[in-house]
Amino acid sequence: MIVETEAVVLHAMNYRDTSKIVTLYSRKFGKIKVIAKGTRNQKTNKFGSSLEPMTLSSVVLYKKEHRDLHLLSKSEIVTPLSRLQDDSERMFTGLSLIELVNMVMHDEEENELIFLLLAESLKQIDTAPKNVVNVLIAFMVKLFQQFGFGLSVDECVQCGRRTEKENFSSAFLRLSDGKYICSDCSKEGLVSGTRISGEVLKMLHYMQMHGIEQSAILDIPIKNCVEILATSQAYLRYHIEGTRTLKSLSLLYSTK
Ligand SMILES: [Zn+2]
Repeated sequence: MIVETEAVVLHAMNYRDTSKIVTLYSRKFGKIKVIAKGTRNQKTNKFGSSLEPMTLSSVVLYKKEHRDLHLLSKSEIVTPLSRLQDDSERMFTGLSLIELVNMVMHDEEENELIFLLLAESLKQIDTAPKNVVNVLIAFMVKLFQQFGFGLSVDECVQCGRRTEKENFSSAFLRLSDGKYICSDCSKEGLVSGTRISGEVLKMLHYMQMHGIEQSAILDIPIKNCVEILATSQAYLRYHIEGTRTLKSLSLLYSTK
C-alpha cells in the first residue's frame, strides 16, 4: 500500500553501504521505521536533508502489513527549522524532545495529537526568542495528560487552597496521581511524595493550564529548570517502566 503522511524524523542510522534506517513519528501511523535506499550517495540521494533528526517532512512510503520496516520512496521538508542547529540550547532541547518521543511511544500506534504536539514543539524550539527548554517541559506535561496520568496541581489535596492564590514554600508531589500536599499540611505528619519547591509547583501549574506556545513566556531560573526536569522524568519513570534518563538533556546542561 502506498501512503503519504507528515512525519518528524526521530532517529536515523546508516545501513549497509548506501542506505539509512530511519525512525519517524508520523501523523497517520505513529512511530514507524523505514528504509531509505541510496541516501549516502550524492547522485542517488533523492531525499536531500529531509531525513536528518528533528526534520518535519512529508513522506511517501510503501507500507506492508505485518512488517516492521517499510520502504521510503519520497521525502521532502515541509517546514524548514533552520535555527534548531544554531545554538546548543535549541539543538539539545530538540534532541531531548525526539529522544523522549522515541523512547515512550510504541511502534505503529497512531496518535495524531502527539504528532501535532511534537511538530508544534519543534517549531517553538526553532522560533521562540528565549526559554526554549520550557517547550520541552510543557510537552512533557501535555504528554502526561495524553497518557492518562496528567498532573493535577491546581490545589492542595488536603486543605484545598489553590496554587494560583497561595505561595507555598514547597509541596510534596504524589507520583501515583500527580496531586500534591502543600508544605503547611505536610507539617502535621509524614506524607509521601517527591518534594518540590513552591516555584516549581507554580510553574507546573502554569504549564498544565496553558498551551505549548505560551510556555516560553516564563523565565525559569536554571536551578528550577533542573528541578522541574528531574521531577518530570521521575514522574514519567513512575508511570512508564523502563524509561531512561534523557541523554541529550545531560548534554544541554553540560554546555551551560
Ligand atoms: Zn494544604
